[in-house]
Amino acid sequence: MSLIVIAIGGNAILNPEKGNPKEQQELIDRTCREIAQIISVGHDVVLTHGNGPQIGNILTMQEECGLVHPQPLDICGAQTQGMLGYSLQQSLINMLWGIGVKKDVVTILTQVIVEGSCCSFGNPTKPIGLYYTEERAKMMMARGVKMIQDKKGYRRVVPSPDPLEIVEEIAIKKLISEGVTVIAAGGGGIPVIRNNGLLVGVEAVIDKDLTASLVAKDIGADTLLILTDVENAALNYGKSNQVDLHEITVSQGERYIKERHFGKGSMEPKVLAAIGFIKSGGKLAIISSLDKALDALAGNAGTRIIGGYLKVD
Ligand code: ADP
Ligand code: MG
Repeated sequence: MSLIVIAIGGNAILNPEKGNPKEQQELIDRTCREIAQIISVGHDVVLTHGNGPQIGNILTMQEECGLVHPQPLDICGAQTQGMLGYSLQQSLINMLWGIGVKKDVVTILTQVIVEGSCCSFGNPTKPIGLYYTEERAKMMMARGVKMIQDKKGYRRVVPSPDPLEIVEEIAIKKLISEGVTVIAAGGGGIPVIRNNGLLVGVEAVIDKDLTASLVAKDIGADTLLILTDVENAALNYGKSNQVDLHEITVSQGERYIKERHFGKGSMEPKVLAAIGFIKSGGKLAIISSLDKALDALAGNAGTRIIGGYLKVD
């Protein structure tokens, strides 16, 4: 029996063009059907998920409504953990029970401690939510919202500090030891700091791949499986000389990061998360797509990141 931390992207559960509840449910069911298959062949699973599109939607609702006080980002993050946790938990129970696997599934609202003095607080860089016109962006910036401009327009930017510690780590371990399938650290976790011994939420969004890596390390998982919308991490991505990677060592991964092969904020954090897990003693990290999850675990798909040196045949 092996313990696997599975990280799925926020886009796997909300397609920005297909936001209606029925279509969303279909996406969630498709995701949970695959995860139920992984559990049914004997793996213990801790599931974690992104929340980019969902937290973007909450911020848009706050922005457009103007009638109620906007909530800080830790509260918005907690909202996404609750709503996505509910949907995933319900769908996963339905899928598992449907194939005769009588397991409990529980979502844990998970707080993650970040470095309070982290440089990213002074200079936020992670873009989230909708694009705004210059006129609208200027009004928002006058209210203190930090924004950046790119080719498509203006977007809100927030700090994205590194995750240091999972507050609910022991509770997660207890549930796993009881055979419960746990959904935890959604959206990278609710960002908090310790202030005079007390936990306090902060205005930030944590990268979900880095948090998944920390969860996998803390609970002693055998495998970190990061599922996204491409089957492999690639070199020269999107170019005519693209090369899909099948198995790389930590040192190769580090070299490819230096050579800037992986998109910042998309593929790079996944490779960093995989490297971090292996360096902390994990056996295997895999990056692949949802529909190839089982094949990837069997060694027949995806990009595997392993320790040591690659053997030469
Ligand atoms: P998720 O929501 O699963 O975290 P992201 O959009 O953040 O998904 O990351 C996956 C995306 O990373 C892919 O759709 C792909 O466009 C992009 N990407 C950037 N660089 C690479 C690369 N070198 N190899 C493969 N995909 C890459
Ligand atoms: Mg991502």
